[in-house]
Amino acid sequence: MTVIIGLEIHCQLTTKTKLFCGCSTDYRNDPPNTHTCPICLGLPGSLPCLNRRAVEYALRVAKALNCTVLDEAEFARKNYFYPDLPKGFQITMYDRPLAVDGHLEIEADDGTEKRIRITRVHMEEDPGRLVHVGSGDRPRYSLVDYNRSGIPLIEIVTDPDLRSPKEARRFINTLRTTLEYLGVFDGDREGGLRVDANISMEGGSRVEVKNISSYKGVEKALTFEITRQRNVIRRGLTVGRETRHFLEARGVTTSARSKEEEHDYRYFPEPDLRPLRVREWGDAIVLPELPAARRVRFAEAFGVSPSHARTLCGDLKIADFFEEVAACGDPILAATWVADTLLGEVYYRDMEIARVPAGHFVELLQLLRKKEITDKGGVEVLRTILDESAKGGVPETPSAIVARLNLGKAAGDAFGPVIREVVESCPAAVQDFRNGKPEALNYLVGQAMKRTRGRADPKELARMIREAIGEPGVTG
Ligand code: ZN
Ligand code: MN
Repeated sequence: MTVIIGLEIHCQLTTKTKLFCGCSTDYRNDPPNTHTCPICLGLPGSLPCLNRRAVEYALRVAKALNCTVLDEAEFARKNYFYPDLPKGFQITMYDRPLAVDGHLEIEADDGTEKRIRITRVHMEEDPGRLVHVGSGDRPRYSLVDYNRSGIPLIEIVTDPDLRSPKEARRFINTLRTTLEYLGVFDGDREGGLRVDANISMEGGSRVEVKNISSYKGVEKALTFEITRQRNVIRRGLTVGRETRHFLEARGVTTSARSKEEEHDYRYFPEPDLRPLRVREWGDAIVLPELPAARRVRFAEAFGVSPSHARTLCGDLKIADFFEEVAACGDPILAATWVADTLLGEVYYRDMEIARVPAGHFVELLQLLRKKEITDKGGVEVLRTILDESAKGGVPETPSAIVARLNLGKAAGDAFGPVIREVVESCPAAVQDFRNGKPEALNYLVGQAMKRTRGRADPKELARMIREAIGEPGVTG
């Protein structure tokens, strides 16, 4: 059964002020209802004043998603009553959005590139936020916070081109990266991205899952919904057309009251705002380098492998960090260490890449490049640096750490006695190796590693042991 998924994604744009008033958007650490004014509270007689920067940001998004920007866009009123919407209507765009017919390339389930079509991109204002007080599904009462009311949103609607929950998640991750490269979105902001997903089995009715507010949630909600719809079909019933809510904490979707029809909203052009002439405005915008172009450049300019380039460019801050450290050394070594080692250590500590001192990292790469430490020693140096940085301290330099922990790779000769000791104390393994069991060599190398406390390069130790005991089949 083919799964058909389309997404509607709302993203908060990172302007300094709200869409129609001068209230600051930086409300997350402030008490409720402290970033409000008559306009974003929707008081009678107040008039919206459009934030030029928000339109500029939205046009960047439309262009980066390869959309056609329309000649004119027009704000419209979407009428409905809800406590988080004190005006009784949301200012959005309806039949004249900013842009239509775009696309975004993502990695498909089979690893190839896949083009996901974008139906439309439009702007609207965020409503306020309800805080339900009480337990679980039965709140005792609800509070409303208007700090979020009037935050500029961009709504991105895709065609039903996605075929699995994993693809949907990958689309959202790719979109997030693209928006961050454009400098219009902060993916770490809580509640900055919200998704409604339309999902159906081929030939079945469309179910809309609303209210998904985390990156992981999208995949979870869709996976749940596929199982649910398959079970309905298996029992010989039909999936009804409906709206469902995703309950993040329980990982399930539940039926919501029947959805309003489009005409229930009584859309009409917003009389307090003029239509916007956006095409020429859009034409004049010059986009920064986007993830796909940066991947190509990393491969061409630095010789980075395609998979490393994908990892590095998947996050703007990581790509910038790599570029900073690659400029001062061996870019391929830098790519390997950033993608394969540093990122894992950073995620493990739940720290931001910005906290990693680039100068220290470059010095570490230089020690590795000059083979003054082994890979294993390098990891130990890196962990020491990150532990200190994560605490907010100033870490020692890599050379100081190498000296203090005695991690320096001694010259090969210094290990001669260790090799002799290992060969003498493990006659059985030596004999096994000579009799043609190559795995016996790993055991001997392990013994030598233990005695050198990781200061020696395992490849070098293997070479020295073979030299000492001879090759298989040759009697020593
Ligand atoms: Zn305001
Ligand atoms: Mn919307």
